[in-house]
Amino acid sequence: MIKPIMKKITRHFTPENFALKVKRSRTGRGLFTEEAIPRGACIIEYKGRECSEEEQETSNGKYLFETGKNTMIDGNIPGNTAKYINHSCAPNCEIDIRKRRVYVFAKRNLKAGEELNYDYDTEYFDAHIKKKGCLCNKCSPMGTKATTSSPKTAKKKR
Ligand SMILES: [Zn+2]
Repeated sequence: MIKPIMKKITRHFTPENFALKVKRSRTGRGLFTEEAIPRGACIIEYKGRECSEEEQETSNGKYLFETGKNTMIDGNIPGNTAKYINHSCAPNCEIDIRKRRVYVFAKRNLKAGEELNYDYDTEYFDAHIKKKGCLCNKCSPMGTKATTSSPKTAKKKR
């Protein structure tokens, strides 16, 4: 049996009260931070309702989140602001799960005004994103052109 190597990180699974805002993004709506967030900070909990085993089999909702071997939550509930966080193949946030609860952490230092994103798993990607083509900052950097007036950002990559 292969055992995953667990990274030794001390984490605080309590979201701090960062100023977050749902705004228009390139893929519809997205969640943005209005203040700087330090790397490793717990930003928000991805809240949801626990799904029954039957729901796990039949539902293929976009907001389902696996929280354990046989457990899943449906994040399509009022008050789950984290559901607005979009996918990115070069994300600035990451997910960690503790006691069947899902938390979003800052993968690096975030600046005020940045959109939050994390890497959805492959299964989700294949089911919901692949066909349309990924619109994340890594896959379609041209997408930023429409929202920024600075020509400098397009060149930044290399
Ligand atoms: Zn992408």
